[in-house]
Amino acid sequence: MSQRKFDFYIVPTPIGNIQDITLRAIETIKEVDFIACEDTRVTQKLLNHYDIKTKCVSYHKYNERERVDFFLRELRAGKRIALVSDAGTPMICDPGAVIVEELIKEGFSVTALPGACAVTTFLSQIPRSSEEFAFIGFMPRSEKQIIEVVQKHAGVNTVFYDSPERILKTLETIKSVRPGAKIALARELSKLFEEVVYDDISSVTAHFQNGIKGEIVCMVYACENPENTDLEHKIKILKAKGFKDKEVAVILSALFDLNKNEIYKKSIDM
Ligand code: SAM
Repeated sequence: MSQRKFDFYIVPTPIGNIQDITLRAIETIKEVDFIACEDTRVTQKLLNHYDIKTKCVSYHKYNERERVDFFLRELRAGKRIALVSDAGTPMICDPGAVIVEELIKEGFSVTALPGACAVTTFLSQIPRSSEEFAFIGFMPRSEKQIIEVVQKHAGVNTVFYDSPERILKTLETIKSVRPGAKIALARELSKLFEEVVYDDISSVTAHFQNGIKGEIVCMVYACENPENTDLEHKIKILKAKGFKDKEVAVILSALFDLNKNEIYKKSIDM
């Protein structure tokens, strides 16, 4: 099949299993003049496996700006470039946005090939009653920011990346505001030790009580009454500061125009 030619190709590479790369991706990285890689050593392993001889040029979040001029010069000279990241789809929690913005401004043709990505590999096997989801990239580190994320997206399935060192702490923080939350968690997708668990948050943390290894993608299922999550958190804060149930009800009903008796009832139940 004859292919339309572009100046710049965004090319996904495997997220674990080296065979998870499309025929078109292989053909593209074979044919371009050079490959812009996050880490040339990582990409070189892939190229060796598929016997691809194309030259690699490093391009990562620390030199992204300074590389733009170089790429523009090469493209003006008629060269064609492929961008890859260490694993998965570039620009999904990986660099690329800076150069792509500049190329579009300069009128170069840019295309992205479909391919491996942890978030889509995960979501395409997780049972959900809704297509709607929020992908927030890497979960922030501080407790305050995690709580903000969880509250902001309480009404929608919320997918995030996290590291094995932080995920259990992240789940504990989520549990403090969503004690009954349902969780789906996958690690090592497409690799030998792939594991996917779904359960309530306490069971998931208990399952990994001895630690967790590998690359992780996780989803907090939407809750049915998102406004309650936020309200319960506010009640908790006020009670922790020593306010009585009645005072909590007066304060929150005045500030947020809510029913005082309902807040009072919630507060004494907590
Ligand atoms: N661009 C990549 C993509 O398309 O998914 C993501 C790059 S981001 C720097 C790396 C994070 O993606 C990991 O820390 C992990 O959270 C997630 N990830 C990557 N590969 C994974 C895998 N095989 N299984 C589960 N999560 C993975």
